[in-house]
Amino acid sequence: MKSYKMLLEESNLKITPQRLAILKELDKKGHASIEEIYENIKEMFPSISLATIYKNINALKEENVINEVCLHQKPKFEITKEPHAHFICKKCGKIEDVEFSKVIDKEIEKYYPNSQKELYIYGICKDCSGNS
Ligand SMILES: [Zn+2]
Ligand SMILES: [Zn+2]
Repeated sequence: MKSYKMLLEESNLKITPQRLAILKELDKKGHASIEEIYENIKEMFPSISLATIYKNINALKEENVINEVCLHQKPKFEITKEPHAHFICKKCGKIEDVEFSKVIDKEIEKYYPNSQKELYIYGICKDCSGNS
């Protein structure tokens, strides 16, 4: 993956320590809500407010550096990567990335060119189905 700095350089956004920290957090977690990001980042930036995180998340989203996923629950964010599907556990809410074949991608593109593809799979994850 590209460095966090490069991701920002390719967008029109200024590189700030806060933005770098948000990207690092998303990279580490895979998917995280604004509150989760805030919880971890405030250790590094004790004076940062939730509103500042919000503003930065929105700016990063507008520049397509990050992507909003899972609109049916609390929104979570991830660093923008290749199109992929999301598996969401109906019990614990865990989100997993699911590879989505180039064939499907091409097929969708045929009917809906240049579309933003979001595919969600809802089910029960292995952890939850194991001990029920
Ligand atoms: Zn689960
Ligand atoms: Zn994802």
